[in-house]
Amino acid sequence: MIAEVISIGDELTSGERLDTNSQWLSQRLGEAGLRTRFHTTVADDLEANIEAFRTAWGRADVVISTGGLGPTADDLTRAAIAAALDTNLVLDADSLRHIETLFRNRRREMPPQNRVQAMFPRGSRPIPNPHGTAPGITVTVRRGAGGSAAVFALPGVPAEMREMWQQTVLPAIADRLGDQRFVVCHHTIKCFGVGESDLESMLPGLIQRGRYPTVGLTASRATLTLRITTREQSVEACRRAMQPTIDMIHNCLGNLVFGDGLDELQDVVICLLRERARTLATLECGTGGLLAQWLGEANAAERAYLGGTVVSRNAMRSGPTAPFPMPRTASWISSGVARNMACAIRERFGTDYGLAVTDFPETDSLEGGPAAFFVGLATPAGVLVKRHGYGGHPDLRKHRSAKQALNFLRLHLLDRGSDPAT
Ligand code: ATP
Repeated sequence: MIAEVISIGDELTSGERLDTNSQWLSQRLGEAGLRTRFHTTVADDLEANIEAFRTAWGRADVVISTGGLGPTADDLTRAAIAAALDTNLVLDADSLRHIETLFRNRRREMPPQNRVQAMFPRGSRPIPNPHGTAPGITVTVRRGAGGSAAVFALPGVPAEMREMWQQTVLPAIADRLGDQRFVVCHHTIKCFGVGESDLESMLPGLIQRGRYPTVGLTASRATLTLRITTREQSVEACRRAMQPTIDMIHNCLGNLVFGDGLDELQDVVICLLRERARTLATLECGTGGLLAQWLGEANAAERAYLGGTVVSRNAMRSGPTAPFPMPRTASWISSGVARNMACAIRERFGTDYGLAVTDFPETDSLEGGPAAFFVGLATPAGVLVKRHGYGGHPDLRKHRSAKQALNFLRLHLLDRGSDPAT
């Protein structure tokens, strides 16, 4: 079954407000087993609304709109649905009583214009709105070529919309689905260390249209997320259906996979340190303090992450004010600097590991080579340094260098099991 979500309001089409109702509704529709094929956002304009509703119920089996049910002149949803159905509005006495009672309970007189909220397109029914004055509207629209669309118009206020979804819309959709009721489950696998196309080529045939379970790939600031989706008649059947695909991904990608669900690299690093009873301190330049922020906020970080220092580019460049000994010949971006930074911070905090990341050059021409930065890791058994070339968008640099540093430590901890304690 195909669904369409319509969001109504000038504040949405003008960009003033973000349309989070469509996001929320599409997630719920997906969980109920429906595929949302269209999102339509429409301004407070009667003709545009009439067209949006007619188009939606011509191509979708379930149409859900939000917004435009208030009492003011720019609230056009009920008039638009009536016009799109070539009918008129009629008063629903029960809805009027509900609105009058709400006003009485708030010790306010009902303004005359609120009466319009008890008017419904002929042939439609009200959807109760226990905590708001605007009841929703539901109507079944017959299509010329056979079949029908179930239409649900809900208020824009997110809390009211959600409550009405739960109490009325979801049960009505479940009834409509009958035997064809499905559960949709997702599982996400998080990866770091390669680009999107390299990752895709390591998973031959997996990210392909028509494959079941479906596997989607998205990238966000150098973290890659694989999303496996199954659609079965129970949650258990969904889990069973996705397990072979999950196993296959782990086999193909090895330790490029760092976690699943809401895991981030810092959560995994803290977990590995805690398992090994090891401690960490960080020293970073050019990352805006991301390492310290992420590690400091990670779950149960206190015993593993003892602290960090953030150095400005100017302090690094000036040499003598850098909070560690600068190698005499090196520029402020070099493997020698990364080495000294990692050792200095390990010593200062007395930790098992000192993790450092250097600044990245502002141009590609530094030292004649492409843009690069260095990650240093001081361990109880010696210092490791890695150079990373970087040519991406400037906005991503901070995230990428902080994540490279975390990943360097993660792989070291996985590889070495545990270095001897300090
Ligand atoms: P009412 O007029 O009774 O408040 P309504 O159905 O007319 O309800 P709108 O006036 O369109 O709803 O929206 C009310 C408020 O709900 C908006 O000011 C906004 O804060 C929020 N809202 C509306 N639509 C959305 C949306 N698509 N996503 C997120 N928030 C929304």
